[in-house]
Amino acid sequence: MDISIVIPLYNEEESLPELAAWIRRVMQEHGFTYEIVFVDDGSTDDSWKVIREIGQNDPHIKGVRFSRNYGKSAALNKGFEKVSGEVVITMDADLQDSPDEIPGLYRMIHDEGFDLVSGWKKRRHDPLSKTIPTKFYNWATRKMSGIHLHDFNCGLKAYRVKVVKSVEVYGEMHRYIPVIARRAGFRKIGEKVVQHQARKYGVTKFGLERFINGFLDLLSISFVTKFSRRPMHFFGSLGSLSFLVGGIISFWILAVKFFRLGGPDHRDVVDQPLFYLALLAMIIGVQLFLTGFLAELVSRNSADRNNYLVDEEAGF
Ligand code: UDP
Ligand code: MG
Repeated sequence: MDISIVIPLYNEEESLPELAAWIRRVMQEHGFTYEIVFVDDGSTDDSWKVIREIGQNDPHIKGVRFSRNYGKSAALNKGFEKVSGEVVITMDADLQDSPDEIPGLYRMIHDEGFDLVSGWKKRRHDPLSKTIPTKFYNWATRKMSGIHLHDFNCGLKAYRVKVVKSVEVYGEMHRYIPVIARRAGFRKIGEKVVQHQARKYGVTKFGLERFINGFLDLLSISFVTKFSRRPMHFFGSLGSLSFLVGGIISFWILAVKFFRLGGPDHRDVVDQPLFYLALLAMIIGVQLFLTGFLAELVSRNSADRNNYLVDEEAGF
């Protein structure tokens, strides 16, 4: 099969028939073999009913329905489990992404050898309250990940099937799939300018909290990328530094104490601000160290501690 299309959706009943018809048309025009996997993320409207109707006489259509709303990342992850096409395309269900982009994305994976191609909504049709923070967020993600994409969170993306089978999307990490894919060892990541429409039906499912959550997720993903397999290197170095500072100050305080013992400018140890600083630095140092040990124990038990991506093997 050439193409698998994964569509996560939450309360998008009005858009679905139009979307399915449009995809079918594009696929037939280009003669692709394909499947469409709708993942109903616990919709409370009639989305699932609509999917059943669309799929009734069409073997290309598959559907999965969650028992409640788990979020877009979970929906994508479930969809990725189901796919079997050579190229996997994800797109939003709200008709903001155009199925006409699919052939171009497919070619970039199939002919040009990209592992992942992200859409870039160069001309966006969204309110300013969304586009301005998005610019900042994309800039920060570029800086932290070293991946040069303009639009990390674009719902329209294409993947080599191997990529989706080896990444795990959880929490709200769908914003960072390119970062996760890069971490998993897929280096050829590209982008393609895509058409973007204003939302035709329904409402957006993400409010302004998306920016706070997105930023926190960016911090955790860059931490995890760097240190998840060696947490002690992070906590241990900070802890040693803090403990060292505390130790030097204590040493200094003691030295002064003995030197001036009973002298005219004698001061009690507890009368000096530095004493408290030393105390604090040493306690924090020890705590960071203990956190490091605990993190090491956790990462020792993690299921993917030895989960490497092997490109090729050979016996000579
Ligand atoms: N979505 C989902 N589960 C959720 C929230 C959203 O599957 O909990 C789907 C939604 O139905 C749509 C896509 O994710 O197909 C993108 O959502 P939306 O259009 O609301 O985001 P925006 O375009 O505003 O960034
Ligand atoms: Mg949308």
